[in-house]
Amino acid sequence: MLHKVLIANRGEIAVRIIRACKDLGIGTVAVYSEADRDAMHTRLADQSICIGPAASARSYLNIPAIMSAASLTDCDAIHPGYGFLAENAAFAEIVMESGYTWVGPSPESMRIMGDKVSAKQRMQQAGVPLVPGSDGAVESPEEAKRIAREAGYPVIIKASAGGGGRGMKIVHHEPALAAAFSMCQSEAKAAFGDDTVYVEKFLEQPRHIEVQVLGDSHGNVVHLFERECSIQRNNQKVLEEAPSCFVDDETRQKICAAGVAAAKSVDYVGAGTIEFLMNADKSFYFIEMNTRIQVEHPVSEWITGIDLIEWQLRVAAGEPLAFSQQQIKRKGHAIECRINAEHPFKFTPSPGKVELYHAPGGRSVRVDSALYSGYSIPPYYDSMIAKIITHARTREKCIRRMQRAIDELAVIGVTSNQELHKRLLANPDFQRGEFNIHFLEEWLKQLPDE
Ligand code: ADP
Repeated sequence: MLHKVLIANRGEIAVRIIRACKDLGIGTVAVYSEADRDAMHTRLADQSICIGPAASARSYLNIPAIMSAASLTDCDAIHPGYGFLAENAAFAEIVMESGYTWVGPSPESMRIMGDKVSAKQRMQQAGVPLVPGSDGAVESPEEAKRIAREAGYPVIIKASAGGGGRGMKIVHHEPALAAAFSMCQSEAKAAFGDDTVYVEKFLEQPRHIEVQVLGDSHGNVVHLFERECSIQRNNQKVLEEAPSCFVDDETRQKICAAGVAAAKSVDYVGAGTIEFLMNADKSFYFIEMNTRIQVEHPVSEWITGIDLIEWQLRVAAGEPLAFSQQQIKRKGHAIECRINAEHPFKFTPSPGKVELYHAPGGRSVRVDSALYSGYSIPPYYDSMIAKIITHARTREKCIRRMQRAIDELAVIGVTSNQELHKRLLANPDFQRGEFNIHFLEEWLKQLPDE
């Protein structure tokens, strides 16, 4: 097993990883920026090293500083968490070439999946369904027009190197195509240094359904069923569930098998997620793979009883998975609400001092957070401050339990999106499970101004 792990991250995920390491008897090293001296991860780790100023580019993305911290503390592995360097194949390579264990997939798998054109090509070979559109990169507006006519409007032009919901343009009819095409190209060049774009059909009312996979270095890949992540705003997930109430057993079996085939096609090792869009008729299409642990991993952990961070560490150390697909059973329903330090309806960030923090508790409530009373939320990073996860036998009970948990939560001193969750959980369409990826934004438009 691993001896000491450096966690190249901050916030709740750094705390989550430190806790998992401690449970396994593994030593922990936190790295922190000057703005995070009093952060929870800095305090909880066995050792903590400052790696630079507040700006992420100079601290949490500062590869030489992180590698020096690993060397100074005699670590044997690096866990990147999510965000920051988690999907940076060059970083993974540096980690491995410097003799450390990388808690993640191979740089090769990361590269294939990190480029959307190469990922789609690999998925096609693996027999995973793709959104109709171009087979690869599209070179000219004329070629884009031909593909759009074949797929049918509306279409979406996407940057191959895109991510985080950036580098996409929706086109409703042919006269708008050429301008959108060149705009997407130049924006992609500016944002990602790569102007490769492709075209696919824009699905109008899909749901976002993703499959959690876990692979080891002995060729085994299993899935931990699907998650429903359609409740989004600006391509940012707000609430996630497992399982999806929209997915029936037959569809579940198909989409999970597609997820496993996708992971196997890149010899995937570790925890990963295959994202799909699903139409009303339950046809589904691959959109991308995230080659890291995801924010919403706890809902999958809860319905399966498998600790994903523990297994990331175990497979990184070379252990084979201790369970077969048949042994992974699904039990009950889990929901996660992302609590952000921001205005619940205007979404303006609200960093600052948390005068008082009270986390909900009781039966089947889990809170993953790095908050404490008196902590000052720095303005430099993501606004997510806590994840509340509940579990129950049925979705209905799980929603009620979440309503109870959200009511118990107290974050005083900063503004949080607690009220958004309260209203959302009480919404009849949400409760009936009738929604798609546009639901939250459309509902927000109808809410009376306050
Ligand atoms: P990113 O890597 O930036 O997250 P994705 O390819 O995962 O990009 O797409 C992000 C979101 O954009 C999806 O969750 C979905 O809401 C929307 N989207 C992407 N492709 C399509 C499509 N073909 N049709 C409809 N919506 C899409």
